[in-house]
Amino acid sequence: LAVAIIVGTRPEAIKLAPVALALRARPGVEAWIWCSGQHPAWASEMLAYFDLQPDLLLDLPPRSTGLAQLASLMLSGMQAAIEDLRPDVVVVQGDTATAFAGALAAAYAGVPVVHVEAGLRSSDRRMPFPEEAHRRAIAQFTALHCAPTLKAADALLAEGFAPGEILESGNTVIDALRLIAPLTPANDPVSELGCPLILLTCHRRESWGAPYRAVCAAARRLASRNDCEIVFVVHPNPELAQVARDLLSDCPRVRLVPPLGYPDFMHMVRRATLVLTDSGGVQEEAAALGTPLLILRDTTERPEGVEAGTARLIGTDEEVIVASVQALLDHPATLAAMRIPCTQYGDGFAAERIAAAIAARWKDARAPGGG
Ligand code: UDP
Repeated sequence: LAVAIIVGTRPEAIKLAPVALALRARPGVEAWIWCSGQHPAWASEMLAYFDLQPDLLLDLPPRSTGLAQLASLMLSGMQAAIEDLRPDVVVVQGDTATAFAGALAAAYAGVPVVHVEAGLRSSDRRMPFPEEAHRRAIAQFTALHCAPTLKAADALLAEGFAPGEILESGNTVIDALRLIAPLTPANDPVSELGCPLILLTCHRRESWGAPYRAVCAAARRLASRNDCEIVFVVHPNPELAQVARDLLSDCPRVRLVPPLGYPDFMHMVRRATLVLTDSGGVQEEAAALGTPLLILRDTTERPEGVEAGTARLIGTDEEVIVASVQALLDHPATLAAMRIPCTQYGDGFAAERIAAAIAARWKDARAPGGG
């Protein structure tokens, strides 16, 4: 059984590494990692923490001019790879342009698609773009939906997908956390800090422009309290990085740091007093580790952390961000009450369930090397 695992971005590499390892541990299964070229350096760096590397890397131009060009280049690149190497199954993860193009290329070629982290849906009719469009589209091409939570499985059932096509696997990000736990962080940008540490990330497309500026303005005001430090892990996208530099580089209690290695970043999430983020993966990780979390979005397709009490959904209004953080810093008991590890995202063994389901479902596919 030959399985092509398609990764393009940092979260895909982190969340599919455990799946690649679990598949490779099974006799008679070959698992190839194909890197779409969406964020090749990041994807390779994250895979390396799991002792993995891409078996194939699509050669995209260094900066494509928007989602349509990116998706179309990846679609044709993956079509060629599928025709050349003929996997029996293609695995995609999440909601990126890579996952969408990979699923579509497989569907066009008649190769079954496994969707990891399937069934995430925003609770209201807003459809955060482009992620929700991608994941809803991918569902249409998917033979096996690996739902990370009960809610995600229910969402798929409600959309009419057959129970036999849905595996309630857990989220593989919890497996990734477990696997990297023994690694020692390479460096700690804030080892000397003694006061409350706020870890901030913001990069989602829906946050670009006014919301991002409001987040930066809120960080500036919070830093002026002089009793907390803000570590802002700035996304390298030039539009975002320049705004953060313009608005915050003269602010002594805000440290603008470049993206961190996975063990280093998780070390920061563990030790942070509070995490502010719009990232999907960081929402899951912080909630699972029990680090209080304010979600800088108007809606989330990961409500489990909010329901567990570890997370609050606060949006991107400057006043609301400042008031929400102040309320927690000024009331340590409320903050302490949010330190509840959320168990809903999984038990750390999702990848094994996914690998077992793939091996069982496609057991009659050709033997490795059998052509
Ligand atoms: N992450 C990391 N270093 C960083 C920031 C994030 O390793 O400096 C990891 C984080 O732990 C999570 C993933 O990257 O597993 C999230 O990626 P991102 O926020 O880019 O994507 P999203 O989860 O929103 O799709």
